Amino acid sequence: MRILVTGGAGFIGSHLTDRLMSEGHNVVVMDNLITGNYQNIARHKDNPRFEFIHHNVSNHIHIVGDLDWVIHFASPASPVDYLELPIETLKVNSLGTHNTLGLALSKKAKFFLASTSEVYGDPEVHPQPETYWGNVNPIGPRGVYDESKRFAEAITMAYHHKHKLDNRIIRIFNCYGPRLRLADGRVVSNFIGQALNNKPLTIYGDGSQTRSFQFVSDLVEGIRRLMDCEYHEPVNLGNPQEKTVLELATLIKELTNSSSEIVLKPLPTDDPKRRLPDTTLAKRLIGWDPKKDLVDGLKETIEWYRAELSTSTAQAVG
Ligand code: UDP
Repeated sequence: MRILVTGGAGFIGSHLTDRLMSEGHNVVVMDNLITGNYQNIARHKDNPRFEFIHHNVSNHIHIVGDLDWVIHFASPASPVDYLELPIETLKVNSLGTHNTLGLALSKKAKFFLASTSEVYGDPEVHPQPETYWGNVNPIGPRGVYDESKRFAEAITMAYHHKHKLDNRIIRIFNCYGPRLRLADGRVVSNFIGQALNNKPLTIYGDGSQTRSFQFVSDLVEGIRRLMDCEYHEPVNLGNPQEKTVLELATLIKELTNSSSEIVLKPLPTDDPKRRLPDTTLAKRLIGWDPKKDLVDGLKETIEWYRAELSTSTAQAVG
């Protein structure tokens, strides 16, 4: 197949690109690299089945040749990023989704949307099933991400109903693993970076808020299976093991053997108190269950950060 992956130089997009390349597909990565990193996909640059297009999908998209899939993963996704890039975030999930949908229709391609657990906002139902409509503050700082992803889901379903588009939508819950940028601002990258540098681990609030963390290979497996399953409404992909942020900090401190202390910082506005996916639907549709244990996934991620940090130190010294 020939597959376009928007945001393919990002954390999740690049892992998906690796998977599709390893299956022998032709992959076109489109990314404007504002939060993505070309190094994530550089390994494929000499492969004739691979193509990179430096482009912002919020502007009109032109692709020469056929496409079997348009996979739309482009968007700032870390709270730190979308607070810094609010307009870009709104645009990529609205205009960018409109453009990629139009492209999919014109190429008679299938369409795959990366949505997010943020569509549930600060949920009042636990765990969150796909049928829950959410509790979102539209004008709060996170609204730029939450609302634009909700719009992206709405316009994708409108194309499905109006144009018979063959689409998939996933709601991605907190994901971590190698290639999550050190400066990404998310909790796993912050804590590991801080622990490895023996700097204080910054807990926002009192650390009693919860998240559930899925390793990136589990997510990619879910995406890949869903591509082969004709189901058009949103599907949660996340790990149903709930952890408090304080538990995560303690675990990372232990796994890194770090002498860092833990410090409390103010809780950001509208920070969800609990987040936990109901994955019954994914289990039923595609037999999917996250496999990677949190300790194993964190160990692998920590090793990757260690290697990254030693390369950057070596480069700085050199
Ligand atoms: N968090 C934290 N310290 C950090 C970064 C994040 O305590 O250095 C908290 C954050 O307030 C939230 C949770 O960790 O409650 C997960 O934050 P993240 O930015 O990773 O993603 P979110 O799930 O909020 O989108």
